[in-house]
Amino acid sequence: MLVNLVEILKLAEERKCAIGAFNTPNLECVNAVIAAAEKLNVPVILMHAQIHESASGLEQIGPVLVQAAKTAKVPVCAHLDHCEDLDYIKRGLALGFTGVMYDGSTLPFEENLENTKKVVSLVKGENCGVEAELGAMPPREGGENAPGPVYTEPDEAVLFCRETGIDALAPSFGTAHGIYKSKPVLDLERVRIIAEKTKLPLVMHGGSGVSPEDYRVGISNGLRKINYYSYMSKAGTKAVKELLEKQDVTYFHDLALAAEKAMEANAESAMRIFYGL
Ligand SMILES: [Zn+2]
Repeated sequence: MLVNLVEILKLAEERKCAIGAFNTPNLECVNAVIAAAEKLNVPVILMHAQIHESASGLEQIGPVLVQAAKTAKVPVCAHLDHCEDLDYIKRGLALGFTGVMYDGSTLPFEENLENTKKVVSLVKGENCGVEAELGAMPPREGGENAPGPVYTEPDEAVLFCRETGIDALAPSFGTAHGIYKSKPVLDLERVRIIAEKTKLPLVMHGGSGVSPEDYRVGISNGLRKINYYSYMSKAGTKAVKELLEKQDVTYFHDLALAAEKAMEANAESAMRIFYGL
């Protein structure tokens, strides 16, 4: 069942859990995430990130995400992740996406605020919610050699949320995108303060590779959406490697299916933590 970002985050608030939000740049990822969510009977968010255009173009994979959401037995939001321009968001809306994240986090505060306002007014009247980012969580998906994180100031967050009218905020509190090279040190008290002051659902980016205990504390402090991809994808790659070491595989679809099964298992264990199952 296709639902929008506001509706799915309301379910998270009712259950005091975080909704798993998975990047799904290809069909195997979509199938893996939907299968895990249906098995556990939990709502879930499928995401296409602008940075994954090289894997699948928006007009190719977008309809797949929306259709998978419509036919799923659980509530599913089809969400655009890390959009950096309005045109990309317009294209997503035309395809039926029900959530968008505008990422102006690398811009100066005022510019991020003005652009985010434009996104909120663009989406107004559509069956779609808006997430925005304040502070910076480098590196970007796929990026390298970025400077360290810029933590979100709670009072700036209050002003930003009030002025823009967004539905969810992604603050920066020590997570990073991609595979962690050392154990992340998270400022979860900052999450609690920002949630209390903004009264908005908060989003964790760089959710792969965080300890179960940090997830639990983060959720009880106000995280309602956790973005997760790198470790799921890594599990798929590992399964393919193992299969190729064991046998001589001719058909690519056998590799794709092995990856899908492994990603489903990985997504399921992440969901068990996010939903407290
Ligand atoms: Zn992100």
